[in-house]
Amino acid sequence: TTDSTALVYRRHGEPSQVVQLETLRLPALEAKSALVKMLAAPVNPSDINMIQGTYPIPPDLPAVGGNEGVGQVLEVGSQVQTVKVGDWVILRDAGLGTWRTAAVFSEDDLVTVPSDIPLLSAATLGVNPCTAFRMLSDFESLMPGDTVIQNAANSGVGQAVIQIAAAKGVHTINVVRDRPDLQQLTDKLKAMGATYVIKEESLRKPEIKDIFKVYPQPKLALNGVGGKSATELLRHLQTGGTMVTYGGMAKQPVTVPVSALIFKDVKIRGFWVTQWKRDNKHDGEALSVMLEELCTLIRAGKLSAPFCTEVGMKDFHKALDNAMKPYISSKQILVM
Ligand code: NDP
Repeated sequence: TTDSTALVYRRHGEPSQVVQLETLRLPALEAKSALVKMLAAPVNPSDINMIQGTYPIPPDLPAVGGNEGVGQVLEVGSQVQTVKVGDWVILRDAGLGTWRTAAVFSEDDLVTVPSDIPLLSAATLGVNPCTAFRMLSDFESLMPGDTVIQNAANSGVGQAVIQIAAAKGVHTINVVRDRPDLQQLTDKLKAMGATYVIKEESLRKPEIKDIFKVYPQPKLALNGVGGKSATELLRHLQTGGTMVTYGGMAKQPVTVPVSALIFKDVKIRGFWVTQWKRDNKHDGEALSVMLEELCTLIRAGKLSAPFCTEVGMKDFHKALDNAMKPYISSKQILVM
């Protein structure tokens, strides 16, 4: 293999306008690098933001799109110790470019994942489930019977939150935007283990209080949206509870009511999985323990890949357009 086909952008702009399919020459394999055949890679919101030029880690242009994905090691350099030919690997960091048929990566950037999990689970393991896992572990100590509330509950992160929480016996109150097929979406999320699924509007109605006659008020709120949606989550948080913001899909700032701070002393925090991985880079153990726990859930049928659509690389325009559409509830996954 000397060439790869890649989705490249040479300037920032609207993804479907600036991304193009190009043939790239693969660099020579060095002692501590590995040649990886990419198998599948999702189109995540951060990939879109990176192409638009609005993501906090700007790539050097031209750049290959995609921050996440799974590949298989085809060849290793003479001093490579942690991965071997045939291994399935995911990437430790963002910004390495996964939308390509093959690449040479440094050994340090690769993490082996078991190849007995479904391909689409492996392709989406490193970002959404890790984010969900850390947010459920690192901010409040959740016990079986506790409650978590979240918006963007049908997102990749949201679906992982529902499933990981359910496996811990933690109830989830899941807020989604209204849509024509709301009932169908509700049924799908409930089948995953969602305790309640509520549309944004219902969260403001007094009936919502009935839920808290049955379940305790949430200790933890997970905000992937911002704006009014985040403020609504805060209204239901327990005294002393935490809201973790990890995404801003509405592109609106978070407004914290003064009363929530004074009378409920809520904690307002943020989380970025890329930073967590960088901070834990020299503690390989922390990442592998988490990945092992996630794979155990996957094998047990308790954590499935997000709702998704597989798209061939040649149809990348369709994948990029769909990834930016509202109410699509299906992650676009490029298969190489
Ligand atoms: P997905 O592509 O799987 O889902 C996108 C979600 O955003 C859907 O729930 C969609 O809802 C919702 N959405 C889109 N537009 C809006 C809007 N204008 N207002 C409210 N909701 C909207 O996303 P991911 O799960 O991969 O990512 C979700 C968010 O989390 C993104 O902002 C992403 O950048 C962030 N993220 C952050 C991480 C971190 O470490 N901090 C890690 C991973 C993701 P609908 O069906 O109603 O359109």
